[in-house]
Amino acid sequence: MTTIASLLTKPLGDLAPRAKVQPFDAVVIGGGSAGITTARTLVEAGKTVALLEAGPLGLLTHVQDTDLRFDANLVRSVQAAFQYSPPLAPSGTFGSLIGCVGGRGLFWNGAVPRFSASDIEEWPLTMDQLADDYTWAEQQFNVTSAYGDTPLCERLCACLKASGLNARPGPYAVDCRPTADGWVGGMIGNSLSPLLRTALLTAPAGLLSLAVRSFVSRIVMANGRVSAVDVVDLDSGTGYQLACHTIVLAAGGFESVRLAQVSDVPDPNQMIGRYITDHSFVRAYYQDGGDPPTMAPSGRLPSAPAGRCGHGGHSPVRGPARGPQLQQPIWLQGRRRPDVVRLRCGQPGRRFHRVPAHG
Ligand SMILES: Cc1cc2nc3c(=O)[nH]c(=O)nc-3n(C[C@H](O)[C@H](O)[C@H](O)COP(=O)(O)OP(=O)(O)OC[C@H]3O[C@@H](n4cnc5c(N)ncnc54)[C@H](O)[C@@H]3O)c2cc1C
Repeated sequence: MTTIASLLTKPLGDLAPRAKVQPFDAVVIGGGSAGITTARTLVEAGKTVALLEAGPLGLLTHVQDTDLRFDANLVRSVQAAFQYSPPLAPSGTFGSLIGCVGGRGLFWNGAVPRFSASDIEEWPLTMDQLADDYTWAEQQFNVTSAYGDTPLCERLCACLKASGLNARPGPYAVDCRPTADGWVGGMIGNSLSPLLRTALLTAPAGLLSLAVRSFVSRIVMANGRVSAVDVVDLDSGTGYQLACHTIVLAAGGFESVRLAQVSDVPDPNQMIGRYITDHSFVRAYYQDGGDPPTMAPSGRLPSAPAGRCGHGGHSPVRGPARGPQLQQPIWLQGRRRPDVVRLRCGQPGRRFHRVPAHG
């Protein structure tokens, strides 16, 4: 049967013999935000790339990739209308299929504050050295502070500032364009859409080969340089070797480290696995017994059902939850992981809760 997935992906059994004759310029391990964006960039530069993802190509499965994610009942009812393969795990509104093409970036909140200099003061890098990379990455994901440009956010910031916290609207990877003329706005930036819009469908034939259900078990080294990857087809159990000149390790923070270590990748400066840091921002929740406040510019962020947190799968609001709650993109500048902050706004019954960040 021809499926969309079969049109967009290549079997490892086809890629391995081809790589034996002409090694790939690069093999990218992991099809999350990092892997896809790197693969796309390499393909745009004319390189041949094999993008290997352990999970499936889960197109159309991710209603939580839109603002609809904030309505848990709606997400469940949309998901219930499809038959998924592999089946979705019953694990709340997100987290059901994180290992897939698009990776965690299909489920993230899109909050993208830069690290501050103090966050990385022990790193062998400075903020200046990272600045161009940040700018480039932010362009790839349409990062903007306009998402937090709302009267409610203004009030929250004023309230937090009055309490001595230097708050301002945080940068978010959100497409703030209105939905019109066939363009669906309001999407949280992910790497899958640009992949489908550009490299996978329109790149010159043969430059990008996406293989799914393809688990890389080892990086193969020869004479101190990478030369290939060992990769297993998870459906058939067959092992293959894919020859290449360069390997991009983008399998996520922990798996990338594990893979480098089991592959005996040389680590003369003992850098592998270091500087995996904590979150650098906090999130504020608004709790209100009355009508939900207006959200400008679009008002498109729906409120969660009463008594629930406005963020899929989590219920981090402490204390009685009496009414609609809205997530507000606020960044408390210069504060690293403060503990819970509770602030009372002018009117009785209105509170702001700082909740522990996750991700
Ligand atoms: C619910 C949620 C909310 C978040 N919110 C935010 C936020 O607001 N701001 C923020 O900055 N970050 C947030 N994050 C974190 C952010 O999404 C991740 O840091 C980012 O997406 C990681 O991208 P990645 O490409 O490095 O890794 P991943 O997205 O994890 O991609 C790695 C991919 O590699 C595949 N893989 C792993 N091992 C192998 C192997 N051996 N062979 C082949 N493939 C392999 C995996 O299946 C996976 O698809 C959030 C995460 C979650 C889950």
